[in-house]
Amino acid sequence: MLFCTRSLIWGGLLAIAGLTTASPVATGPLPIAIRDNTSPPSSLEHRDYNTTSLSPVVSLPPTIQQDLTTLLSPSALVILPSSPSFSQYTHRWSLNTHTNSPSYAVIVVPASERDVSLTIQYANVHSIPFLATTGTHGTWQGLSQLQGGMAIWTRNLTKMEFAADGQSATLGGGLRGDDVVPALWAKGKQTTTGSCRCVSLLGPALGGGHGWLQGQYGLGADQILSARVVLANGTAVKASNTENSDLFWALRGAGHNFGVVTEVEYKLYDAVRPEWTYQSYTFTQDRLEEVYRVHNEAMRNQSVFVVYWSLWRWAPEVDPVHPILVSTVYYNGPPSEAASYFAPFAALSPLDTTPVLTTDYPGLAAAAQFRVTDWACQPKGGATVYGMDVDTYDVRALRQSYNAFRDMIRTEPALSLSMAYLEGYALQAVQAVPYESTAFALRDRKLLYGFLVTYEDNTTATRNKTLDAQAQKWGEKIRDAAYGEKVKQKSVYVNYAKGSESLQAMYGYEGWRQERLKMLKRKYDPKGRFSFYAPIKA
Ligand SMILES: Cc1cc2nc3c(=O)[nH]c(=O)nc-3n(C[C@H](O)[C@H](O)[C@H](O)COP(=O)(O)OP(=O)(O)OC[C@H]3O[C@@H](n4cnc5c(N)ncnc54)[C@H](O)[C@@H]3O)c2cc1C
Repeated sequence: MLFCTRSLIWGGLLAIAGLTTASPVATGPLPIAIRDNTSPPSSLEHRDYNTTSLSPVVSLPPTIQQDLTTLLSPSALVILPSSPSFSQYTHRWSLNTHTNSPSYAVIVVPASERDVSLTIQYANVHSIPFLATTGTHGTWQGLSQLQGGMAIWTRNLTKMEFAADGQSATLGGGLRGDDVVPALWAKGKQTTTGSCRCVSLLGPALGGGHGWLQGQYGLGADQILSARVVLANGTAVKASNTENSDLFWALRGAGHNFGVVTEVEYKLYDAVRPEWTYQSYTFTQDRLEEVYRVHNEAMRNQSVFVVYWSLWRWAPEVDPVHPILVSTVYYNGPPSEAASYFAPFAALSPLDTTPVLTTDYPGLAAAAQFRVTDWACQPKGGATVYGMDVDTYDVRALRQSYNAFRDMIRTEPALSLSMAYLEGYALQAVQAVPYESTAFALRDRKLLYGFLVTYEDNTTATRNKTLDAQAQKWGEKIRDAAYGEKVKQKSVYVNYAKGSESLQAMYGYEGWRQERLKMLKRKYDPKGRFSFYAPIKA
């Protein structure tokens, strides 16, 4: 009966597309399971994800490849695990399906918005859980609840059309920072993208989108003038301030919950200040309090053109026990103007100071080692980001956090490549956007911490699980310590959240925000089809 019902609906879909039902191919049913998440609860645990509506076990139709190939445009691809090319589409930044990586039984590579729409309709008819995947850098732990599902691999949605006035471009939902930044630069343009070139344009922007230029132009989300979105029911709509404005509000901060964005109209700016100047300072751990007091002072009246970064990493050649601190000041302008921003750090007599270096906007990726080929972008055996947002460096809390970071590296050498990223972007243009006007709720937070707990070992499942437990224990400990006692309401940028945080921490503590998001989730995704990444519980 079920088969009969599905066939009827499916036949209807094919008819809509002007096609006839294809005969079955011999692929056999493929099991799909939604993984039980067995990781131990953490101190921040609020497991209120809306995954209850997903069927725990379903099978892919044996004819899926032929069905979709018939239905979709000739350039679309439908790839099964038996295909030699399958693994090209499944790699992720964090490879660990125990913690935060999905696995797929079928990959669909749409070539158009219509393909996305028909794919989602097909998935709905057959109760197949699906996930849009673009830059593959998401590390939300709920991603691993999709095991054996469908990937909608957006990377062939690469439209890039410049408006005649040069003030905006239509950019495809499959583009990465690495596609966008050089292409704009070649036209004398720039805009806010993620600082790291391997993430997508929209994965970050749908959650806010932090980057080098946010102080001047606002967040990635603030650049979106309109978006084309395929909703949970497969309908494609436009969202802007004048069309589906409620959806447009939600997309800019909680966007992973509401659809597959196939393209956006995105603001561009003339690159009138092409030059960047930067300098890095290395400190031993005993300078931690002094260093972050200087950061606090420097950030008190932060110039719109300055970005303050700091990181912790283990450098045994410097100190075999204590990780080092490296702070970098990036200034969008020439060395003559940058000098006054560098001086307070140089005055601390660092252990090592790099020469003053210059580059252009695309060159920042190399300066920060955030190119696609750099370590930061390369796949990891297991990697989880423990993020948090704060107003200022609480040096007491940071010391406790640092000590936990040091202890982790001492006691678990497999985690010794872990890093702490402490990011201080300027906020002027971010705060110029009215606070209520988008779903992004953290416009007042100056500092973004990302504790990256990672290991390369991916040899055995047993080892993974042991390391996962260790990584989780240490990650939570390092982050908890960094919050300290002063922070009463914990906040975390949704794209740096791990999966154990509350909805309030990610989407704002105001009741009206939570209510509005829930109402919109009920309206646009009542069955919770977009529920593998920071999902709103309707
Ligand atoms: C090394 C590294 C560097 C980072 N640098 C930055 C940075 O500079 N700035 C910043 O803000 N964040 C940064 N992040 C965090 C980043 O924003 C998130 O990891 C984000 O989820 C990555 O999106 P993705 O498309 O690359 O990953 P994916 O795993 O492919 O996607 C993540 C989520 O976004 C959804 N998604 C992706 N594309 C679409 C689409 N077209 N339509 C609808 N949903 C979509 C997916 O379904 C998934 O739920 C970084 C993360 C890492 C690991």
